[in-house]
Amino acid sequence: MSPPLIRVAGLGKSYTTAAGPFPALRGVDLSIATGEFVAIMGPSGSGKSTFMNLLGCLDTPSSGDYVLAGHEVAHLGHDALASLRNRTIGFVFQGFNLLPRMTLEDNVALPLVYAGVERDERRQRARRVLTRVGLDGYAGSLPSRISGGQQQRVAIARALVNSPPLILADEPTGNLDSQTSAEIMRVFAELNGEGITLVIVTHEAAIATWARRQVRFLDGRIVSDVATPSGALAAC
Ligand code: ADP
Repeated sequence: MSPPLIRVAGLGKSYTTAAGPFPALRGVDLSIATGEFVAIMGPSGSGKSTFMNLLGCLDTPSSGDYVLAGHEVAHLGHDALASLRNRTIGFVFQGFNLLPRMTLEDNVALPLVYAGVERDERRQRARRVLTRVGLDGYAGSLPSRISGGQQQRVAIARALVNSPPLILADEPTGNLDSQTSAEIMRVFAELNGEGITLVIVTHEAAIATWARRQVRFLDGRIVSDVATPSGALAAC
């Protein structure tokens, strides 16, 4: 069996507050294999965003270990960590975060500019991933010209453009109506079918049923970790 793509052990995170240190994560153990589709659930304040920020190497833990794609994250310097993050993870956020004056193609190609990819290849790869999320023919449009669901597809295309094995999404359907949310989850399910590992934060049970595994946080700890009942997958 291949080693997990994500392995955290005893992961803790304390924030400094006026009242003293506040433990937002209190010893989290979790392994996620390549190809899994995991929903992270739990009430507001349970530590989901803190956990995702650690998984995304956007913040550092106060204690515990994190091994991502075989690399012990704590042992990496700044540049090596940035490189691992860029190669390994695509991020999708609730608010889409598209640049309003750039075409969809340029928005999607932006991570490739940072990666030093030359212009023609950037264009080709951006168009390819736009097609993959169902936005063939929209490359020259501006974000303001398309719907919220389409904007989230663009954000997913941008997350895919570096061909990462892992996508982390924090409340990706939080700004969308239920039908559009289902369309976005169908895109994620298709990507998972192609082998991409997905970890998605949601507080909505209907969204979590698209995942194959549901991990629930409460007060900074994992309180349940279960496979999605097979009946729920009928939604796919
Ligand atoms: P969730 O995403 O489940 O809503 P968070 O990870 O955002 O939970 O927050 C977990 C706990 O940590 C909450 O009690 C929150 O108030 C606290 N917290 C989050 N970020 C900070 C911070 N930067 N400073 C202090 N406390 C924080």
